[in-house]
Amino acid sequence: MDYYCSTKFKELLVNVQSRSIYNCCKAHPERVNIEWLEANPGKLFHTDTMINDRRAMIANKSCASCYYGCYKYEERGETSARQLNKNKNKDKIVDVYAPLMELQISLTSDCNLSCVYCSPEWSTAWHRDIEKNGDYILEGQVLKNNNWSKLWSNMKQKSRGTGSKFFSLLLREIKLADQLKKITLLGGEPLLNNQFDKLIDVIDELKINVVTGLGVTDERLGKILQKIQRKNVMFEISAEATGKFFEFIRHGLEWKDFQKRVCMIENKKHSIGFSSTISNLSVFDFHNFYEQYGKKFPINLNTIAGRPFLSPHVLDEKSKEQSYKKFSKLGSHADKLLKMIEPNPTDIDRYNLGKYLKLLSDRRLIRLDFLPKHLRDWCASDT
Ligand code: SF4
Ligand code: SF4
Repeated sequence: MDYYCSTKFKELLVNVQSRSIYNCCKAHPERVNIEWLEANPGKLFHTDTMINDRRAMIANKSCASCYYGCYKYEERGETSARQLNKNKNKDKIVDVYAPLMELQISLTSDCNLSCVYCSPEWSTAWHRDIEKNGDYILEGQVLKNNNWSKLWSNMKQKSRGTGSKFFSLLLREIKLADQLKKITLLGGEPLLNNQFDKLIDVIDELKINVVTGLGVTDERLGKILQKIQRKNVMFEISAEATGKFFEFIRHGLEWKDFQKRVCMIENKKHSIGFSSTISNLSVFDFHNFYEQYGKKFPINLNTIAGRPFLSPHVLDEKSKEQSYKKFSKLGSHADKLLKMIEPNPTDIDRYNLGKYLKLLSDRRLIRLDFLPKHLRDWCASDT
């Protein structure tokens, strides 16, 4: 295997609330030592762990932070995030002290949605579900609230996000990063954050991307659009399906409200792109989503991490056959999608899919009959 990945040499994701840094959302995080950062201005992108990981990559060796994000999937014949972004990451940087080019900032985990592949680490709606209904106990995997998400849920937004000391140090890092080209704001849901417009003012001269699930009210979105109307803001909207599929996958938001909010952003002339996470649920309806939005706006495909039973290949044979036909009409995405559903599913993933769907259906009071019967029968049987 070629272990090199240029993302490691140019991108950084910072989770302000948990004070963690990653080279991308798939990589394993590292916690920032505040005292160290205070004494080492401009070094956030050059911690010892990152330097050692880059040295390992240059020597074509595996590094722990990327094993669970990419290498593990490739070993199993599945598509990894770095393979999906191959074209974006063609350049080969070999300077372990290369400057930061792209920064992603996750402000807090405040989010009104509980998307099927998300977790309490990224969404307070997920945290509330587990607090109310208990852990999701699956074969070999338990989805539960960790100590951090419990702590954050009891803290006020300001003190755990943009009011923290770490956030002030992060602003200093941004000012010192003279090669920085782009900043992306992530959530939870960044549009819910009270400091959103203040942050946009601080990072005024750079291109700003906002990754959103649009889980905000029309009124709040309208106010934000009013405030940022003269800024260079692009909206990267997370979605991959329509109608009932959308409402199951992006739980907490109705499809009609989603469409209306996309129109509100479009009417204000901000750029729009979509980020579509391809799972074994979205494969059934992605063609309809592509039909509605794909001819007008760019769509980037994303892989699933941390929920192996939602991977696109965990499907029965009939669902795969039907998907092959639908994918062939999806232009440049067709080959990637075909490759994603190709590997054979394991019995554990099939069993966990059935159990997870049943748990979601019971907790959220949603019937599963929008999914094909052959899929439901296939994953409902015992191991
Ligand atoms: S997890 Fe994957 S995409 Fe992210 S930095 Fe590592 S190899 Fe690259
Ligand atoms: S909108 Fe984003 S943060 Fe919120 S649940 Fe969905 S994926 Fe998670």
